[in-house]
Amino acid sequence: MTKVIRTRFAPSPSGFLHVGGARTALFNYLYAKARGGQYILRVEDTDQERSTPESERIILDSLKWLGIIPDEGPDEGGDFGPYRQSERLNIYSKYTDMLLEKNLAYPCFCTEAELEQMHEAAKRLGVPNIYDGRYANLPREEAQARIKKGEKYSIRLRVSGEEVVVQDLVQGKIKFDSRLIGDFIIVKSDGFPTYNYAVVIDDFEMKISHVIRGVGHLSNTPRQILIHNALSLPVPEYSHISEIVGTDKKKLSKRRGATSVLFFRDMGYLPEAFNNYMALLGWYPEDAAEFMPMAELKRKFDVARCSKSPSMFDFFLNENNPEPEDFKPEDMNEAELKKMVNKKTKLNWLNNKYIRTVSMQDLWPEAARFLEKDKGLSAMIKKDQKRMIEIYDRVRMYLDTLEDAVPFFRELLKDRVEVESKEAADLIKPEEAKNVIAAFAELVRAEKPSTPEQFADIMKQAGVKTGAKGKGLFMPIRIASTGSMHGLELPNLFAILGPEQVLARIAQLGAG
Ligand code: GLU
Repeated sequence: MTKVIRTRFAPSPSGFLHVGGARTALFNYLYAKARGGQYILRVEDTDQERSTPESERIILDSLKWLGIIPDEGPDEGGDFGPYRQSERLNIYSKYTDMLLEKNLAYPCFCTEAELEQMHEAAKRLGVPNIYDGRYANLPREEAQARIKKGEKYSIRLRVSGEEVVVQDLVQGKIKFDSRLIGDFIIVKSDGFPTYNYAVVIDDFEMKISHVIRGVGHLSNTPRQILIHNALSLPVPEYSHISEIVGTDKKKLSKRRGATSVLFFRDMGYLPEAFNNYMALLGWYPEDAAEFMPMAELKRKFDVARCSKSPSMFDFFLNENNPEPEDFKPEDMNEAELKKMVNKKTKLNWLNNKYIRTVSMQDLWPEAARFLEKDKGLSAMIKKDQKRMIEIYDRVRMYLDTLEDAVPFFRELLKDRVEVESKEAADLIKPEEAKNVIAAFAELVRAEKPSTPEQFADIMKQAGVKTGAKGKGLFMPIRIASTGSMHGLELPNLFAILGPEQVLARIAQLGAG
């Protein structure tokens, strides 16, 4: 019988969900889904000082927005719950009793001050901070008596000094010398399990078959394997995925709020595009495809094809224009950050592709959220939603983000058109330009075009009539109808505006 694949994402609720964490969640989700398995969400909140319910909410909401929905988790429940570590303390103590009973672990009465001293001494000598075993052989009765008296204690696992081998699906085979680890704490003096200890018990209890997580956790793995061995529990398959770096090659975690998943939601990225982009951070499929909707990712993803080398998050600036040394996104507000966004990032390319291909029905609720931020546009949606949806359908091919739609709509629906600059005004003054505009206006009046193709044809006809070509043809028409030298593709813009509006704009600018 083949083993059921069960993966998990195990965030510590002490901040936002960042791109790195979200990618870990995605890889776990995809790996399980690609193999008919289950994906579990577990909240690791044993660090009492750093965990907050607000952070847990933000992480869970971010994952929901991405559509990375667990089969089991704090909101979903499941057969192996609870799915919050702080609610599982009785489970951990069962295992601790067993380890104490078998003398595989022991109480350690070192005070904070003593531990600090050992740490300092190791640092001074430049050697690893290995516990000296001062309580390893304390007679059981004595330990019991001290506990009874109310003395504070932690619990340490006995480490015999064997070699520990991590077999990793991404990193390969890595050997660790456990003599450099020493007896380590599995239960803290506040009674809470340490991260390494809780992870092992939960992964076993929740029947996790594959652990996929950031390479930063690789150094924790030998400790976890030692705990698995002491408890005679099977070891899961490990995959430690590469680090994500910015274009400055520095760790992404330095960018803090700037890489929070919600930042991307609020900028108008679609979850499908964001997942697609994240999937390509450190992984690529055999056929080297890049545009892959979730259903395709779920079919294709394999952790064995993940790269060992760091992957680059090119969202801010790019390779030719790297982030400057003093780039401090954590000190910047959202508006400042947006100015640093690399317009040519793969994320924008993907987002545009999704914006233009998803059904309008699915897109509209998300799209409207951004338009409604503008008072004028919000009023127009209330008045004639159907028309706004029709317009959206025509402009969406030009959008990198849903937020981009706002200036587009403002341009399309403005009451008054004004020539934006002297340079633009000068371009419609010469006789040739005036002739082009007049010929164009006359053709529009006579033929009443309505589709982009019909408008394109009319522009061509105006060119034939006047002998104007290229820029000499379209620039006067553009300025006469929009007041601007840049903007939407004219035939598309005209089709959205309709012939009357186009003529009204030209008349208003006195150009026709
Ligand atoms: N709770 C750990 C973290 O947030 C992850 C633990 C794991 O995946 O083993 O980094």
